[in-house]
Amino acid sequence: TPSLDVSGLAYAYPDGTQALYGVNVTIGKGERVALLGPNGAGKTTLVLHLNGILHGGLGTVRVGGLTVDPKDRKTLREIRRRVGIVFQDPDDQLFMPTVREDVAFGPANLGIRGDELDRRVEHALSRVGMLDVAGRPPQHLSFGQRRRVAVATVLAMEPEILVLDEPSSNLDPAGRRELAEILRDLDVTMLMVTHDLPYAAELCPRSLILSGGVIAADGPTPGLLADE
Ligand code: ADP
Ligand code: ADP
Repeated sequence: TPSLDVSGLAYAYPDGTQALYGVNVTIGKGERVALLGPNGAGKTTLVLHLNGILHGGLGTVRVGGLTVDPKDRKTLREIRRRVGIVFQDPDDQLFMPTVREDVAFGPANLGIRGDELDRRVEHALSRVGMLDVAGRPPQHLSFGQRRRVAVATVLAMEPEILVLDEPSSNLDPAGRRELAEILRDLDVTMLMVTHDLPYAAELCPRSLILSGGVIAADGPTPGLLADE
């Protein structure tokens, strides 16, 4: 079974704006895929379907063997655990008094306690190089550090698929480079929404181009970028 299988996904917002028109995407376990496309193409709308935040259109979204069905709360909870989304603004994801508590929040919410919780927090923070700031308030960190902590909050859930919305945005060159190295070393299926073509080329062997609510291209990143 693929990690992610989106089939015939069509969606209109309540005001009637048709954002997606029959999107088909299959992503295998361990693949790293960039999701490219102009503003308004439907990238955010597609991402918000991957864990059932948005639903109610046509088509199906499957994660592993599970199908998103808003009426099946138990399956939806499991899908939300499997699909970790790092949003563009880290400050949407960090709201606890310390970095450690922010990273513990998700797994604690899943019922994980004690040594296992400590292990998850330490592992996630060490993967993003932020273990040494675990006791500090997130607001005292730089933007680049907050973005890395936001990645750790999602990694601590041990997702099968890591979805990143514009991970390199607002980073200085050093922060951009550091994050690329961190992401390169993660062993997880990855879908990265980005306008940063060098980032896509470096980190994602495959790219999708979404345009006007349809997949306009899907293939090896170097070839797609050469055709742009
Ligand atoms: P991005 O390209 O970063 O996804 P967008 O400009 O597409 O940003 O949208 C930013 C936010 O504004 C989105 O989360 C979306 O829900 C909202 N939005 C975009 N277009 C509309 C619209 N026509 N009506 C209402 N909300 C919208
Ligand atoms: P992208 O992330 O690629 O910029 P979006 O998924 O945000 O694109 O938007 C796709 C289309 O849906 C755009 O036409 C946008 O204006 C519209 N849209 C996004 N959010 C909303 C919303 N909350 N209500 C109505 N239309 C929206």
